Amino acid sequence: MTNAVRDIQSYDIVVVGGGPVGLWLAAESRLGGARVLLLERRPERVAQSRALTLHGRTVETFALRGLAERFLAVGQPMSTGHFAGLDTRLDFAGFDSPYPFALFIPQSRTEAILEEHALKLGVEIRRGVQVAGVAERADGVEVELAHGTAIRAAWVVGADGARSLVRRSAGIEFAGLPATDSIAMGDVILDLPPGPPIAGGSNEHGGASILPSGDGMHSRVIVLDTARRHLPQSEPLSLEELRESLRRTTGRDFGMRDATWLTRFTDETRLAASYRQGRLLLAGDAAHIHAPMGGQGLNVGVQDAMNLGWKLALVVTGRAPEILLDTYESERRPVGERLFTNTVAQYRLVSGFEPANTHLRAVISDLLAVPEANRAMAGEVSGFAVTYPAALLPDVPTGELAGARTPDLTLDDGSSLHARLASGRFLRVSVPGQEQLPMPDSLATAPIDDAAICTPDAGLLAGAGSTIVRPDGYLLATRPVAGRDR
Ligand SMILES: Cc1cc2nc3c(=O)[nH]c(=O)nc-3n(C[C@H](O)[C@H](O)[C@H](O)COP(=O)(O)OP(=O)(O)OC[C@H]3O[C@@H](n4cnc5c(N)ncnc54)[C@H](O)[C@@H]3O)c2cc1C
Repeated sequence: MTNAVRDIQSYDIVVVGGGPVGLWLAAESRLGGARVLLLERRPERVAQSRALTLHGRTVETFALRGLAERFLAVGQPMSTGHFAGLDTRLDFAGFDSPYPFALFIPQSRTEAILEEHALKLGVEIRRGVQVAGVAERADGVEVELAHGTAIRAAWVVGADGARSLVRRSAGIEFAGLPATDSIAMGDVILDLPPGPPIAGGSNEHGGASILPSGDGMHSRVIVLDTARRHLPQSEPLSLEELRESLRRTTGRDFGMRDATWLTRFTDETRLAASYRQGRLLLAGDAAHIHAPMGGQGLNVGVQDAMNLGWKLALVVTGRAPEILLDTYESERRPVGERLFTNTVAQYRLVSGFEPANTHLRAVISDLLAVPEANRAMAGEVSGFAVTYPAALLPDVPTGELAGARTPDLTLDDGSSLHARLASGRFLRVSVPGQEQLPMPDSLATAPIDDAAICTPDAGLLAGAGSTIVRPDGYLLATRPVAGRDR
């Protein structure tokens, strides 16, 4: 690391990694007023479909910034999802959201929209720039670039994926379960109309599933072939191998041809021991990896970024105490723990082909037919059930509803509550005639807008009188604090 570098550029925040999580984090912290630089080693955006599922809460999150229509215009909604490919589907339709579904959309499209949004907000994005090291100094972080120069930042976020350099530099442990299997995957043309996901089949040779790949032409074929499950992830996958594995597990190859992407993934599952070490923070795959079960990785990562972006911007611009950043880990790491657990559980259920596993699958499938169980798991996988119930800061009154996800409600001027959050500011929503909730002293200079709501439209907010919604759409506080005004 070079101490001798003079006149190096400095930023409030450097985000390492320009995948979906880095792009959203950079956009959110820029929206909050921070000067943000994003560094991405790839010269071009990824063209592969990769993550296909945007869950309802993620679409709703993008709606909070006025972007939902961009995704809806290209994605394919699905009102149900799966848990371990069981027969009983997870039902998203009952959630109180304008987006009670999962959206099938290739990650390449998602990233294109997010990059355009980040650039529009003024994020500086440098592609083809590899970060070679990060080192915390007394007053900031020095970011060393592979081509020999350095950049200074007050804070650095590692959104640099599974093998995160930022995580390693911070010395944060990434404990979990090593890979036991490699699974073959291809985006291919089949003699099947692209339609709803189908479990292609399962027998003693393994299991396969087929999903639409989101472009209207290709299907995604995923095969766990028991004869090949121990091949290294790095071993190239050919169309012939995928075809043969699909035949072994389903008895057919559906005329497979014209692959646009062939790869292998594993069931390696890990969670960062901490999401922050000093001035270094982690988000997305840098903080959690798992088998892609139920389409959750990108979604949880985007929610990490949504939680961290405004907090980091407030802290770096001096409008909130640094302890606010501790709540990033206390709010988001438990979600990472659940992600770890539910993906390991799902992978166990899909990867056992012995007869006993059939009975286990049948029992869990029956349990998911119980409406409460189905709703709980659908809420977890979709992100709708996530709440942050602990007090954000010591002087923030929690109230009964604090930490709850705010549903979209119609304000008294006819506008939508979610649309009013597009500025990324706090929003105080009051029922006319009731006492207004003041901002707590610790956030007294944080930007806030005011809105009014009529009692009949107030839904769950009606009993609270006046509430403050955080920039990420969760309720900050719901009860008036006696004797204090803003
Ligand atoms: C087959 C498959 C299917 C999946 N399906 C789904 C799904 O349906 N839904 C879902 O939610 N998730 C899914 N996922 C997971 C999802 O793809 C990831 O969780 C998501 O890409 C994580 O985003 P990220 O921004 O955290 O990391 P990444 O997308 O990995 O981005 C990290 C970026 O950091 C860059 N980088 C790394 N190191 C450096 C460095 N030193 N300097 C500069 N740049 C660097 C990389 O080039 C990369 O662009 C799937 C994954 C796989 C493999």
